[in-house]
Parts: sequence; C-alpha cells; structure tokens
Amino acid sequence: MDTILDLQQVSKIYKSGDRSLTVLDHINFSVEAGSTMSIVGPSGSGKTTLLGLCAGLDRSTSGVVELHGTKLNGLSEDQLAAVRNLYVGFIFQNFQLLPTLTALENVMVPLELRGEKNVKPRALDLLDKVGLSERSHHYPTQLSGGEQQRVSLARAFSNKPQILFADEPTGNLDAETSEKVVKLLFDLNKEAGTTLVVVTHDLELAAKTQRIIRIKGGKLVE
Ligand code: ADP
Repeated sequence: MDTILDLQQVSKIYKSGDRSLTVLDHINFSVEAGSTMSIVGPSGSGKTTLLGLCAGLDRSTSGVVELHGTKLNGLSEDQLAAVRNLYVGFIFQNFQLLPTLTALENVMVPLELRGEKNVKPRALDLLDKVGLSERSHHYPTQLSGGEQQRVSLARAFSNKPQILFADEPTGNLDAETSEKVVKLLFDLNKEAGTTLVVVTHDLELAAKTQRIIRIKGGKLVE
C-alpha cells in the first residue's frame, strides 16, 4: 500500500515573547492510503495541533510533513491551499460553517473555489447523502449541532478528498447523531477509499479505526 501521510521528526513550538511552549516533540508516523487511524490522548496534549499540521492548515517548526508525496514545509500559502483543495477534507470540532450562508451555500463554497461550474446539483446530492436535503435553505443558527456537523461533513466530502481529517467529529453530538456521523465517515472510507484520520476522546469511535496512536505531552507514546 502507498503512504499518503508521513511525518518525520515533527515538532511544533509556540513562542510568545521570550517564552516558548513545545507542543509537539519529534513526532514520527506514517499513514497508509485508504486506512483509518485515530489520535487519542489527554486534553492539551497537542492532538488538534498535530491534525492541523498534517492537513496543511498550519506549519511545523521543524521536521518534515509529507502529504500525498508533497513536502508541505517549503510551500507558499497558495501552494498549501492548492494541496488542501486537491487532497484534503477537514472537519472542525466547532463545525466552522459560514453563518451568513445557507447549508447549501456552505457546501457549494469549496466547489466554487475549485472553479467548478453548475455546482448546485452536486451540493444538493452531498446534502442528500448526509440526510439533510430538506434543510438545504436553512442557516447554521437554524440547525441543530448534529445537523451542522452533517453539513460540515457534506462540505468536507465535496472535493472527494483522498484524506479526511476530523477533529472530535462526535464531540458535541448526542449518541444517536454521533452514530450517524461515524457511519458516514466509515462509509466514505469503504466506498471511496478515503483515508480517515480522527482526533477523538470517543473510545468507541477510536476502536473502530484500524490503528490508534496516543499523544501525551506532545510526544507519541504508543
Ligand atoms: P489537544 O487537541 O490535545 O487538546 P491542542 O493541540 O489543542 O491539544 O493544544 C496543545 C497545547 O498547545 C495547549 O497547551 C494549547 O494551549 C497550546 N496551543 C494551541 N494553539 C496555540 C497557539 N496558537 N498559540 C499558543 N499555544 C497554543
């Protein structure tokens, strides 16, 4: 199998004034294309930071992050954005939907950014897939947390990502909704071969992935 993500000696240090905080400390791991993996560990251990580095949303202080054969470290902002557009889906903990746009428009945005034409039917299809076609004209504030999360899934699926990063995808959801969301994620893995990398406190969700890595105090311990 091919490696889709490879981290070598990756560290992240936040500096403020003359103080510095090492959030990630020489992390190494790689992820096979089409596989599923979860990242677990206590709060504040660096999981969200790690996910952001892997997805090209942020940059490491040192070490190499290679995504789909491209080393992210030397890339310009535009080049990073292009890599994300081509290969990456990201589901944020707090959904990060655009509040002034409807559910449908939120899903259309990444398709339009990619320069695709006639994106409305495709966005409607995606909303249908997550069971929200009847809510397409609602604004985020008119949707429940679970519905917002499903819109954010539809948006993340829209560029048919080869790798999907999800930060606590079930964190704010009730048991029934989180089951639906988890099923959508694993269906995508099975049907489209999308690699899944999930940060979670939900041990039931973690147990469903093929591999679990544990971060503690910025170090990979397991
Ligand atoms: P986790 O996802 O495991 O809860 P995070 O990656 O969110 O952990 O945070 C790890 C540590 O990094 C925390 O101590 C947090 O306060 C710190 N941190 C995160 N982002 C920043 C930032 N932009 N500037 C300074 N410190 C940060």
